[in-house]
Amino acid sequence: MSDCIFCKITAKQIPSTVIYEDDDVLAFKDIHPAAPVHFLIVPKQHVATLADCTDAHAAVLGKMMLLAPKLAAEQGCGYVNDSATGTKGGFKTVFNTGPDGGQEVYHLHLHVLGGPQPWRGQR
Ligand code: IMP
Repeated sequence: MSDCIFCKITAKQIPSTVIYEDDDVLAFKDIHPAAPVHFLIVPKQHVATLADCTDAHAAVLGKMMLLAPKLAAEQGCGYVNDSATGTKGGFKTVFNTGPDGGQEVYHLHLHVLGGPQPWRGQR
């Protein structure tokens, strides 16, 4: 969509700090981070909200979800569950949907937030 900021980011028409890219998705740092680590994973093909997704989006949604822990680990907030040392790290994943869901940008995006607390609940 020509007036969509995230379409412009995926098309590299406006700059962003990209942390991952393939043919289907782009992940980039949020411009106003709400946690020590805060990045967004977006599909390159425009779809406005999670509620607009259909079975045709299942593969890209699965890719986005599976990328979240991988990229979180790369960004320093991976979840560790070690029998010797216990659990540590971790992150929050959020899809805001619609006005009451707090969505501001109407191009599907998965927020990934992490890093040492406190920051919980700010997004
Ligand atoms: P929403 O409220 O779930 O729609 O979140 C939109 C997010 O996009 C917010 O966290 C914004 O800070 C972020 N954002 C808006 N414009 C840009 C940009 O140009 N680059 C990176 N992040 C952006």
